[in-house]
Amino acid sequence: MIHFVGAGPGAADLITVRGERLLREADAVIYAGSLVNPALLEICKTGCRIFDSASMTLEEVIAEMQRAEAVGGSTVRLHTGDPCIYGAIREQMDRLDELGIAYDVCPGVSSFCGAAAALRAEYTLPGVSQSVILTRMEGRTPMPEGEKLRMLASHGATMVIFLSAGMLETVAADLIAGGYSTDTPAAIVYKATWPEERVFRCTVGTLAETAKENGVTHTALITVGGFLHGAYDRSKLYDPAFSHGFRKAEAE
Ligand code: SAH
Repeated sequence: MIHFVGAGPGAADLITVRGERLLREADAVIYAGSLVNPALLEICKTGCRIFDSASMTLEEVIAEMQRAEAVGGSTVRLHTGDPCIYGAIREQMDRLDELGIAYDVCPGVSSFCGAAAALRAEYTLPGVSQSVILTRMEGRTPMPEGEKLRMLASHGATMVIFLSAGMLETVAADLIAGGYSTDTPAAIVYKATWPEERVFRCTVGTLAETAKENGVTHTALITVGGFLHGAYDRSKLYDPAFSHGFRKAEAE
């Protein structure tokens, strides 16, 4: 059996209880070495075969899974954050389907959640934004036409931008072209939840220079929007004047 497991954003104790158990029981672990905290591998049992997928191709990853499967072993494919976000798991699952190998997926805490925790922020503030756009700048992977950064920016929603810390001049130019003002609050969160975590609060206009001054080029998320700073409306859920399924409004 193959288990795709979300390792969480960095801190070793942010893996789920289920993910930790699967890791402890695994006969083989293939982990995304560029971002997964190696401390997680300390719980693997003696004799567990461990591979860093950073230097492997999809074909090599699948071959290792087949090898483990042939002897009835359990394999953990350990992805950073949650595997559903830029995890390249679909192509692995499709190959496993072709080969008739069973698998399941254990979710993890995505780095965009780790970044919100580092910022002590709520992405979905009433009166500010009720949507979160998770996206990236176009790199070697082309962006579909309707998802260019400037187009997504035109919504004015909370944005969390992955895989783009090395291209912040272009990111800022596109955000501004899409309608954000240069003084829209922004933040760069470097290595959220790792011991090296750093938070740099800035604006859309100062994103590039902030990253440069602090030497941030990778393993960072860019967050943008009014959720970072300024006024918002209080929630209806906890407003004494509103009733809902679990609570009656207070009498006048
Ligand atoms: N599946 C992962 C994302 C993988 S893409 C997840 O759910 O988080 C890799 C990108 O994620 C990095 O380039 C960076 O933009 C972001 N990232 C991953 N871990 C991070 C962390 N701890 N802090 C900030 N950004 C992180």
